Amino acid sequence: MGTSRLDIKEHGQQEFPTGKRGKSIYIDFAWCKACGICIEFCPKEVFDYSALGQPVASRAQDCTLCMICVHRCPDFAVTIEPSSGKVPEPAAERPQVHAVASRRA
Ligand code: SF4
Ligand code: SF4
Repeated sequence: MGTSRLDIKEHGQQEFPTGKRGKSIYIDFAWCKACGICIEFCPKEVFDYSALGQPVASRAQDCTLCMICVHRCPDFAVTIEPSSGKVPEPAAERPQVHAVASRRA
């Protein structure tokens, strides 16, 4: 499945639990300049583009914790850290938080 553009706008730092080793992807949208590098380099196509061109980890459950996005981001806006527990971990049978957002080609 390729990346999509989601008609949403993100604010602040958001957490996307991967469900693997208790780790989450964190994206700081204040630091992200929407260059798209993390989105394009992710080998598992975890990210979609938001309306502002920033990454949304729509498929965080597919993340392999390879850290490519973390190391490629020129603005240190992506981190992978222990999950906070405040956001539910992804479950195969449960739609992702952002999967319900409308999509544009
Ligand atoms: S850690 Fe790797 S698999 Fe996970 S979102 Fe980043 S680039 Fe994609
Ligand atoms: S690589 Fe960093 S600055 Fe570029 S889109 Fe991803 S999070 Fe934003």
